[in-house]
Amino acid sequence: MNKIYKYSMNANHDDPEGVIRSFLDKRKIKYSCNLLLVFEISDSSPYFEDVLSFMNGRTEFQPQVRIKYSKKELEEAKYLSIWLRKYSGYPQPEEAKDIKNSYINHTFNTSNFCTKCGSGLIQNDSFYLKKSFNIDKIRFGGVYWEYDTFFITTELRDLFVKEKFTGIEFIPVKNIKTKQIIDTIVQLKIDAVFPSKLQYEVEKVINCKQCNQTRDVVKTNSELSAPKEIFSQLDKDFYLSQEFHGDGLLCCKSVLISNRVYKFFAKEKIKNICAKPILFI
Ligand SMILES: [Zn+2]
Repeated sequence: MNKIYKYSMNANHDDPEGVIRSFLDKRKIKYSCNLLLVFEISDSSPYFEDVLSFMNGRTEFQPQVRIKYSKKELEEAKYLSIWLRKYSGYPQPEEAKDIKNSYINHTFNTSNFCTKCGSGLIQNDSFYLKKSFNIDKIRFGGVYWEYDTFFITTELRDLFVKEKFTGIEFIPVKNIKTKQIIDTIVQLKIDAVFPSKLQYEVEKVINCKQCNQTRDVVKTNSELSAPKEIFSQLDKDFYLSQEFHGDGLLCCKSVLISNRVYKFFAKEKIKNICAKPILFI
């Protein structure tokens, strides 16, 4: 695991004399520079301390920090949290404010829906998608807003069935225009709930005054962990986290997969997935 520090600044304004660029050139650290001067440095780089102290002298530049896991760390993780690299459009109808005419009312039972934080929805119908929603090539996709819901090709579903992956069900997806079932895509709905809360660093906690639901905004560079005592109870390949995440009307859970699923994705060259190991400590 390495921490990658990313600096991004206005080249003309923040480095008018090229002092930073010259500093980077001397150390052969690559950067891109159009209007924005952008570079990254890993905490494993021999120049890491050097760069950090140089940049700390210019306090207005706060780097964004992200964690990069090695291939070995990902392959050896017992469970991983996943999300998508790329989302393809919105659930239909994509009207978000007028609940009656939005996908929320089409796809979910809204009797416990909280209009302030988005919690309390129970799915009772299919998701409706546009004809242009196309995951033929990537095979594993999703839509904005519904970050704990995935859509897969029926060909991939057949492989999931063959692998006997657990904790999931497959739900038909419908075309918004024709209201007919799309026969090439299904929704991958995750039913199993992870038996303990995940632990992570919290950016902020949002407590909804209307329904009392709590949501965490997790720091992007936070590691994820779970108590090691629960490991022996884990017998599903897919889980949703107990806790909710998101800001505004976003109220989603984390999706966790087993090592077996991760290896299956690697073997099948499913590229649309980012993963982060869960540490059992
Ligand atoms: Zn609420």
